[in-house]
Amino acid sequence: MKIVSVVGARPQFIKAAAVSRALAKAPDMAEIIVHTGQHFDPDMSDIFFEELAIPAPRRHLGVHGGGHGEMTGRMMIAVEAVLAAEHPAWTIVYGDTNSTLAAALAAAKLNIPVAHVEAGLRSFNRRMPEEINRVAADHVSTLLLCPTQAALANLAREGIVRGVHHVGDVMYDATLHAREQARTRSKIIERLGVQPNGYYLATVHRAENTDEPAQLARIVAWLQERAAKAPVILPLHPRTREAAARAGIGLTGLRICPPVGYLDMACLLDGARAVFTDSGGLQKEAYFHRRPCVTLRNETEWVETVEAGWNRLWTVADYAPRREIPDYGDGEAAEKIVALLRGGR
Ligand code: UDP
Repeated sequence: MKIVSVVGARPQFIKAAAVSRALAKAPDMAEIIVHTGQHFDPDMSDIFFEELAIPAPRRHLGVHGGGHGEMTGRMMIAVEAVLAAEHPAWTIVYGDTNSTLAAALAAAKLNIPVAHVEAGLRSFNRRMPEEINRVAADHVSTLLLCPTQAALANLAREGIVRGVHHVGDVMYDATLHAREQARTRSKIIERLGVQPNGYYLATVHRAENTDEPAQLARIVAWLQERAAKAPVILPLHPRTREAAARAGIGLTGLRICPPVGYLDMACLLDGARAVFTDSGGLQKEAYFHRRPCVTLRNETEWVETVEAGWNRLWTVADYAPRREIPDYGDGEAAEKIVALLRGGR
């Protein structure tokens, strides 16, 4: 069974790493990885392929930059050509980026079934480009592979009930796989000269936080206030770096570093006093490492992290009482996905 996996952005490399590992163990499956080129810096792309031992992409489409429509359109043209040549049994798309949308549309229009990993998430904020991408991708997918119960309910509300499965979170699979390696291979704590439990970890990259200088300034000021208590380590996404420079927003008082690899990130999460982030992935990883999180947004797709007391929106003062979250599964989400691909739907 030939499978084409389309990836392009950092969180997709991590999700695809878990699925690729499970596909590689299946003798009846052959995976072809296609990299759209959406993220192309070595520290946003290559390092994840190396560290997570993801098979090298068979095709690299080299599409990045431009407006959303231009980028998505160019990706669709390039992905369509690959799919038309390969005729896979499935196209797998991940998450909610322009690469997800482009590949889902290109495949669906060629009548190639689409399997959407991380289906059903909703922020209910249509101003987010990610929300448009995930809603549209879900509506053309044949297999909707949900990480949470809330995702199932979201899809049901939109009338999507066929091909919908709760499989758990492939990012949890990835965390379990990397945790031991991170402990032995990462030297980030020493390199940054911080103490375990003696620093906060932050990431900021969502368009809603970077596009508006006033909003970015608010976030930076909030982080600077926390830095009075303990160092705030902020691995800086290229979009945020450019936005801060453009708007003349100083980042003094924060421990800025370039984006880090996945193993360094796992180590930083493990030793963080708390995590401040607008990243979907980090909100869950904070829980996987049992660290409290503050989400630097006005809503979250990962509602169970808030309900279970591990996460709160920065607009809300208190955490709910803490409990464990069963939704993300037992580290075998990718195995379940492979079984469903084999079964057809
Ligand atoms: N990540 C990383 N290095 C960084 C920042 C993030 O390895 O400097 C990882 C993080 O651990 C998570 C994923 O990238 O697994 C999240 O990606 P991102 O925040 O870009 O996207 P989102 O999750 O918001 O879609």
